[in-house]
Amino acid sequence: MGLKKKKKLYEGKAKILYSTDNSYTVIQHFKDEATAFNAKKKETIEGKGVLNNFLSEFFMLRLNSINIPTHFIKRLNMREQLVEKCEIIPLEVVVRNIASGSLSKRLGIEEGTRLPRPLVEFYYKDDSLNDPLVTESQISTFEWASESELGEIFEIALRTNDFLCGLLLAVELTLVDFKIEIGRSHRSEGEKLVIADEISPDTCRLWDSNTKRRLDKDVFRLNKGSIAVAYTEVANRFDLLPKNVKRVIE
Ligand code: ADP
Ligand code: UDP
Repeated sequence: MGLKKKKKLYEGKAKILYSTDNSYTVIQHFKDEATAFNAKKKETIEGKGVLNNFLSEFFMLRLNSINIPTHFIKRLNMREQLVEKCEIIPLEVVVRNIASGSLSKRLGIEEGTRLPRPLVEFYYKDDSLNDPLVTESQISTFEWASESELGEIFEIALRTNDFLCGLLLAVELTLVDFKIEIGRSHRSEGEKLVIADEISPDTCRLWDSNTKRRLDKDVFRLNKGSIAVAYTEVANRFDLLPKNVKRVIE
């Protein structure tokens, strides 16, 4: 069934991709390394990989269930999942509901200000350039995505935002912003866009709706405590961890 791990295809900051004996799938292995500020801040956080593996599985499965296509096929073990191999569009697609992070810095909007409507932004995925903000016109000119793909990406991004906002609000978490990556999947006839990579507290800003406590990677970026504790709290609000692992680390 294409589950044999073969060779390492790519090792990134947070994950490793392995080929399988099926050319349409890859295994995504979640590491414990945390990085921020384009890897200038780096640390190993025991249990982070396990937490993101379970959380990303959960979000991707829920999106699949409302027909938002994702690369997710199945979780294999505590750290690995089988996903559809994609041609990744070199864009970080960011959706924001509340001003924070680079938006607040760039435009001087006070952190925590709710935006009049969800804002979609695109960053060109290139660490050597520090992932610069790019325009739709640049995306078309440099052919990173076609105009019709761009329309579809907007639709996927906004539907995902609406759905995740509701899912998270039900457990008293506010979705401030998030990043997704989109891949071209060649598994079915023709080409199809799917959400790839991961959706986890590494790629979202999540605030407790009542106390505004941060339960995402900002805890690491801003030295505000343990991200393993914060991510475990998110996982436990959805009851995701196996019964014998309620806490991934103490
Ligand atoms: P980075 O490359 O930024 O260090 P990661 O450590 O998360 O990030 O590496 C995972 C890499 O795998 C990313 O470059 C991502 O674009 C890529 N990727 C994620 N999902 C898929 C997929 N389904 N098919 C092919 N590549 C993928
Ligand atoms: N994000 C991400 N990967 C990146 C850059 C941003 O997952 O390489 C996420 C980030 O966690 C946040 C959202 O995208 O949820 C918006 O990030 P922002 O542009 O504010 O940048 P940051 O402040 O994280 O540098």
